[in-house]
Amino acid sequence: GAAIGILGGGQLGRMLAMAGAQLGFDIHVFDPEPNCPAARVCDRAWAAPWDDLGAVQAFAARCAAVTFEFENVPLEALNAAASAAPVRPGARSLELTQDRVTEKDFINGLGIATAPWAVAGSLDTLKAALERVGTPSILKTRRFGYDGKGQARLKSQADAEAAWDEIGRQPAILEGFASFRRELSVVAARALDGTVLPFPLAENVHRGGILRESTGPAEASEAIRDQAIAIAERIGAGLEHIGVFAVELFDMGEQGLWVNEIAPRVHNSGHWTMDACPAGQFEQHMRAVAGWPLGDPEPHSRCTMSNLIGHDVDAWTDLIADPDVRLHLYGKREVRDGRKMGHVNRLRKL
Ligand code: ATP
Ligand code: MG
Ligand code: MG
Repeated sequence: GAAIGILGGGQLGRMLAMAGAQLGFDIHVFDPEPNCPAARVCDRAWAAPWDDLGAVQAFAARCAAVTFEFENVPLEALNAAASAAPVRPGARSLELTQDRVTEKDFINGLGIATAPWAVAGSLDTLKAALERVGTPSILKTRRFGYDGKGQARLKSQADAEAAWDEIGRQPAILEGFASFRRELSVVAARALDGTVLPFPLAENVHRGGILRESTGPAEASEAIRDQAIAIAERIGAGLEHIGVFAVELFDMGEQGLWVNEIAPRVHNSGHWTMDACPAGQFEQHMRAVAGWPLGDPEPHSRCTMSNLIGHDVDAWTDLIADPDVRLHLYGKREVRDGRKMGHVNRLRKL
């Protein structure tokens, strides 16, 4: 079969590899860590540092198409891959979402609402940003944040210095605190021909900045669903995205939906689709990357996904005793606090 390459070999790369193998592709995985979760389920694992652009290029040269599983793949590495194979999604999706400032500019430029925000590049500009955005607010590093890392909350202007220290005095963005009713996300696939097929909305519960639970399809009015689909279509087209992407949303009640952030890839809040939909997010992504038509995203079940974080994973033997529970373990060799070790999907009648 044709080969598809995946840049990054964490759990998302692993689940992409498994879905791709089911469709008959040879899967190549590139990750600096030779023993990463995806390396053990693929046809060929390539281990080299991200800045070894020659290695990235050699990897891509063996593939009919290349994709990525996380947005912190260096742009130089993606461009090196693109010199040897089609890269889907392309550099535009990566570049616009790697940095929270370019991301927010892009979203607002499409006429889509976010929390109020301002750039904070120094303690002085943070103080100026606080004048504009006010409190309560959240200071976030522009790059490399995930699972709520690199963030500090401010209750008043007096917290500026402590927050600036807390995030390590890095280029940052200050966001007004959104008093949302709940958090939702829309995960969608965009095919090579521009067709966008969204999955139904998921409702997401975070604790300590980490996603704990997602339930899909979320209960939502038609107005909310329409707004979410319109947001996904505009963002997908604006990125010229090929593959799956996710948009994290705040349900602001009367004010409609605000976008929190975009993930230019398969997303934790889409894991419920792998057992509840004929074509889940991993299959949809591999179809799009291969240039195939998309599959059917209409769910046949309702599903609640619960992440197994750190030692949560120790309960897996009890969890699999329930016939409505599907277990997904990521094969990580070491349990660490806060680390995503696996998830379970609990299915119910729709
Ligand atoms: P992810 O793992 O989703 O990439 P992240 O580290 O990029 O997470 P965010 O999504 O920015 O972090 O924030 C994590 C969570 O913190 C959000 O899901 C939400 O619960 C809360 N949060 C973030 N920004 C805001 C905001 N402006 N107002 C209110 N709550 C917020
Ligand atoms: Mg994020
Ligand atoms: Mg997030």
